[in-house]
Amino acid sequence: MKFDYIIIGGGLCGLSAGIRLAEQGKKTAVVSSGQSALHFFAGSFGLIGKNGGKTVLNPLEEIDCLPEKHPYRLMGKERVKRLAAEVPVMLDKAGITVTGSAEANHFTLTPFGKPRPSWLTLNGLPTFGKPDEKPFEKALIVSIKGFLESYPAFMVENLEKKGVCCRVETIDLERLTHLRESNFDMRAASIAKQMDRATIEEFASKINSCAGKDESVLIPAVIGINDERELDRMREMVNNPLYCVPTIPVSVPGLRAQHILQHYFEKLGGTYLLGDRVEKGIIEDGMVKALVTTNFGEDHLHADAFILASGNVFGEGIKSNPHDFYEPVFGLDVNYSSNRDEWYAFNFFDAQPYMEYGVEIDNDFHPSLKGIKIKNLFVAGSTLAHCNSLKEDSGAGTAILTGLHTADLAMNI
Ligand SMILES: Cc1cc2nc3c(=O)[nH]c(=O)nc-3n(C[C@H](O)[C@H](O)[C@H](O)COP(=O)(O)OP(=O)(O)OC[C@H]3O[C@@H](n4cnc5c(N)ncnc54)[C@H](O)[C@@H]3O)c2cc1C
Repeated sequence: MKFDYIIIGGGLCGLSAGIRLAEQGKKTAVVSSGQSALHFFAGSFGLIGKNGGKTVLNPLEEIDCLPEKHPYRLMGKERVKRLAAEVPVMLDKAGITVTGSAEANHFTLTPFGKPRPSWLTLNGLPTFGKPDEKPFEKALIVSIKGFLESYPAFMVENLEKKGVCCRVETIDLERLTHLRESNFDMRAASIAKQMDRATIEEFASKINSCAGKDESVLIPAVIGINDERELDRMREMVNNPLYCVPTIPVSVPGLRAQHILQHYFEKLGGTYLLGDRVEKGIIEDGMVKALVTTNFGEDHLHADAFILASGNVFGEGIKSNPHDFYEPVFGLDVNYSSNRDEWYAFNFFDAQPYMEYGVEIDNDFHPSLKGIKIKNLFVAGSTLAHCNSLKEDSGAGTAILTGLHTADLAMNI
């Protein structure tokens, strides 16, 4: 099978690149083997939220303070700024509404009620301007009876520290009774799948009967697994201001974002090969000639250019054994410490060095294999070395912006 472009990996990065190429009418395929980090995504896109342990208010200004080989530094500040401004438009065309801009971070809430810096935040999540700002005067934190993935007590503790007057109500949704019969089903994704119109009406009506005057209502993010308009409809039914707060992963807003982006890519004419894995890339004379996948076997996939967006250790785009980190599809040159003691920080919650290990690229985002540049292959997203999405709170930004950037570079070779 022959395409103009093939992208390996269908997470946030691969889909952003695929949408860019498909929007230009290019015959594009995305091969994706499984779950992406989006399934765990809390609903706020980070561009640069933290650096050196400090909260970042102006992410564009912070680019100069990142390591020299960081993907944003390779792209250049002006390019990051220009692409970042295009992202809300792209998301809106796909059917995802976001708040925010790259000029200044705003803040949203973690599942525990702590402020989290954000570049863009999905529709329905609470947002506020500064980390020490009170997001609401009074909050009614709604829990669903038997729900396993929200922690109202932590939410209350952290919001009360900011001076928010909090109250918790647990709502028993009769239409979810059958889910409570199992120890495993009272989870966000299972509940969200049951949230049909009648259940949403029951939920809204029970909220209306217990919400007090001037209270902002916070519910766990279990509405709208396929379409954000389901949440808009519920907001119309509830008398008080209504917000979703992220739950413990798997995340409903993340599942929705993955579903919508994939659907939009396919609507643009892209081919999404879900559940297939690129086993091997065939390279000759510094060029990728073909890809071998699990499902197509001997029927190799061909394209003019390829983008590797297969994720980091989390997505299996980078793998490790007791001695090395390696890139499993092509065997590309990877940046990592040969001293195993340097792979991990002793404290589990510290920035872990291995998160920065990934594929080395040149200024044009081309990788190399034993020092030889691969001219029709680009690398993007969390597969790249020298960025640490947890330390910098930059995962979504790196994924989307390098996806768009490499798509543009690929169209110019
Ligand atoms: C648990 C978790 C929570 C996060 N939460 C947030 C958040 O709230 N906000 C934020 O800004 N960032 C967050 N991040 C960071 C950010 O979401 C990720 O850095 C970003 O989404 C990575 O996107 P990606 O497309 O590069 O990689 P991935 O999402 O990992 O996607 C790579 C895809 O490639 C596929 N793949 C791998 N190898 C192959 C192969 N050989 N053939 C075919 N397919 C292959 C994988 O199955 C996967 O689907 C989070 C990260 C994690 C791990």
